[in-house]
Amino acid sequence: MDWFPIFLALGDAPVLVVGGGAVALRKTRQLLEAGCRVGVVASRCEPEFQPLISAGRVRWHVAGFEPEIVASYRLVIAATDDPELNRLVAASANRFGVLVNVVDDPALCGFIMPAVVDRSPLTIAIGTGGSAPILARELKASLEALMPAALGRLADFMGQWRTKVRGRISRPETRRRLWERVARGPVAEHLYAGRDPEAHRLMAQMIEAASGAGDASRPAAGEVYIVGAGPGDPELLTMRALRLMQQADVVLYDRLVAPAILALVRRDAARIDVGKRGGAPGWPQQRIHQTMIRLAREGNRVLRLKGGDPLVFGRGGEEMEALARGGVTYQVVPGITAAIGCAAYAGIPLTHRNYARSCVLVSGHDVEDPAYDWNRLAAPAETIVFYMALGEIETICRKLCDHGLAGITPAALIANGTTHEQEVLRGTLATLADLAARRRPASPALLIVGEVAGLSESLRWFHPDRAAAADLPPAAGNFEDRSDDRPASGFGPAAAPSALAAAQME
Ligand code: SAH
Repeated sequence: MDWFPIFLALGDAPVLVVGGGAVALRKTRQLLEAGCRVGVVASRCEPEFQPLISAGRVRWHVAGFEPEIVASYRLVIAATDDPELNRLVAASANRFGVLVNVVDDPALCGFIMPAVVDRSPLTIAIGTGGSAPILARELKASLEALMPAALGRLADFMGQWRTKVRGRISRPETRRRLWERVARGPVAEHLYAGRDPEAHRLMAQMIEAASGAGDASRPAAGEVYIVGAGPGDPELLTMRALRLMQQADVVLYDRLVAPAILALVRRDAARIDVGKRGGAPGWPQQRIHQTMIRLAREGNRVLRLKGGDPLVFGRGGEEMEALARGGVTYQVVPGITAAIGCAAYAGIPLTHRNYARSCVLVSGHDVEDPAYDWNRLAAPAETIVFYMALGEIETICRKLCDHGLAGITPAALIANGTTHEQEVLRGTLATLADLAARRRPASPALLIVGEVAGLSESLRWFHPDRAAAADLPPAAGNFEDRSDDRPASGFGPAAAPSALAAAQME
């Protein structure tokens, strides 16, 4: 190891920056943020220095660099573009025994500054010995994405309880197991979700359990995570969803959750498929509620993984009600709902200053219900997104026309949106039902009606990798319409209704 990493307790120590350019400014800002007092030696400064100098936050030494000045500083940073001067600064610092950093010249450095992931008090410093700062920055970006933003609060929390835990639990092994469960379990979740009092209460309980019976292998109660898995593309998961998926003990998932997403759930979590399978119905909603409540009461972290967003046609609301009634702690992680995901991947802006001032999300499942307000739906300059509409396209298009929308109003049907099997049928209220009857798009599918749907062809950017879908059996159909995303040759005209066919409604 060429560079020995340490964390300096710098406090408000004085630090000298030699140079007044952009690099010097960046270093100065970092130091000020860390709470240091900064002196700057430069004959000229970037204008951005001025307010810092006027506010007294930076002390400006206008005269040239004098070696002795380093003696009144704890650290020195040489950030000039004059190699001669940089060398002089380094030599002076060494002479006075002050640590020095020369920007971009590791050979002259007594210390180097790492890339930092800051979850204070938890801090990660990444260094490459000055050889590849870009690599350090890349790694920093990956870690930033991995680490919950509130990790620092967890570290603080653990700091607050340290003495108490040490006092109450004498066996180091028991303490270690307790801390592991704090870091990974519901205490951390409470903190991340901003439920500090619950975190403290649970912590107190866990210490009681661990110090009393000596067995704290299970926390008092579990929790349910109602998580939106997005429309299909695993990259559309939120970071929070991914984190909770990776710490769940058991997952209850719907058929709409793509296998590629399910694969990201913690490997040893128990998996329960509660969705519809083939023609068979899924679990009754009541059974889902009861199972979640039982599992949580047994101390499990229960992941309720749902397609799209859990609260958009997902019955997540009912599940929250049941959990609240059962006194079970839960949290909800929003997901990208099918309308948002499919529209984006089909090149359809849901609102647009020229074409649509509003957007409504409707269930297309029960369109014959007299309660439907078709007059309202057929409003001008509005985008209408129908979920669960595959079997009702003809009725929907007809009713919209009957209630005043023109037959030439653009409409698009997006099947398997955001995945590599995505298929987009583009047409109008007058033509789409016919097209769908011929092409028999797969389920799940979403219907978007409105002028914006007409932009889908020219704004198309997502070209699904058809090779991934090559093993789909071809179905009887008609080739002449090439208005979808399929290549002109190679594969069958339409995917046969897939195994998901019966699963389009939750
Ligand atoms: N909670 C989900 C919706 C569940 S209802 C969400 O927020 O997206 C099920 C309906 O969602 C399906 O019938 C279909 O209309 C739509 N849907 C979900 N995923 C889809 C996808 N990848 N492509 C097209 N439609 C999808």
